[in-house]
Amino acid sequence: MSEPLAPGATIGIIGGGQLGRMLSVAAAQLGYPCHIYAPEESPCATDVAQKHIRGDYEDKATLAAFAAAVDVLTYEFENVPAGPLRALANEKPLHPNLDALELAQDRLSEKDFVAGLGGKPAGYRAVSSLADLETALADMGTPAILKTRRFGYDGKGQVRITDVANAGTAWQEVGEQPAVLESFVDFEKEFSILLVRSANGETRIWDPPENRHQDGILAHSLAPGSGIIADQTASASDLARRIAEKLDYVGVLTCEFFASREGPIFNEMAPRVHNSGHWTIEGAITSQFENHIRAICGLPLGETALTADRIEMHNLVGAEADDWLSWLKKDRAHLHLYAKGEARPGRKMGHVTQLF
Ligand code: AMP
Repeated sequence: MSEPLAPGATIGIIGGGQLGRMLSVAAAQLGYPCHIYAPEESPCATDVAQKHIRGDYEDKATLAAFAAAVDVLTYEFENVPAGPLRALANEKPLHPNLDALELAQDRLSEKDFVAGLGGKPAGYRAVSSLADLETALADMGTPAILKTRRFGYDGKGQVRITDVANAGTAWQEVGEQPAVLESFVDFEKEFSILLVRSANGETRIWDPPENRHQDGILAHSLAPGSGIIADQTASASDLARRIAEKLDYVGVLTCEFFASREGPIFNEMAPRVHNSGHWTIEGAITSQFENHIRAICGLPLGETALTADRIEMHNLVGAEADDWLSWLKKDRAHLHLYAKGEARPGRKMGHVTQLF
């Protein structure tokens, strides 16, 4: 592979949320300033970055000027339109690459790809009309979940269907757009594999956390996952490794799984650092954020071993962040606030990591 990018080089991050914020902090620690590209007026990543370039994700001229001023490009959320990034990727290295980004933007392609590598997604059918949905429901039965192919996150863009008679309402609820119908998985636990891969193929994987959701939003990650998760870690890690290799992936890759009696069922992947890996900041020798920066700059990867027997990450969603003082009074609890301003319901305002 090519020479590592020496500290002092500038990293361009597309997207200005908390993931960009924590990536910028990790980059700064290693001596790399970050420029943030985001359309908002003052997104939370820009508090801790060297520059904010404000532009729309479709604005090719502003994107080109942003890319010209940095040495390597990455992104912190996967709903960036891939088209305008294509020209940038010819000018500056972009990690993870566009194939990975485009794959992760489409649930159907993602499931086909993973099934092609021997992975096991929940049973699924492509749906592009109400008639398709009715046929798929007749074949697969209920309960099932209808999910939009694109732009879903935190449980948005999906509807649970328990009665075939509700197909019409469900189709309307997802906005009558291309979707996937998935069988409902009777899982015991949910977990994620967090992997980092460098351009020379070096790969490291953290101990997989168990993830618990409330109202479709991640509430807690508990590491290391135990019981059925420990039993299924080897097979899920092996699949994540195959995905990363096939995509010639560089950076952190997250794969979410359901631990079921039929083995690990692949749910979805995110081509980026992930909320279920925030605990790695204090709970692992090297955090997901630092290893992502190391990977995209061509540096050796850091060790991913745990720093405590047991680690719990709690998201502070909406008004939960008002409890910041009581978290600070607890020993071995690390508070992270994202300084986003208004604590709207459902908004991720911060997190706490507790070491035990
Ligand atoms: P997703 O946006 O696909 O990650 O889904 C959000 C959450 O909904 C998951 O973390 C699960 O708790 C639940 N969920 C999604 N798909 C399924 C499924 N096929 N079977 C059971 N639960 C699901």
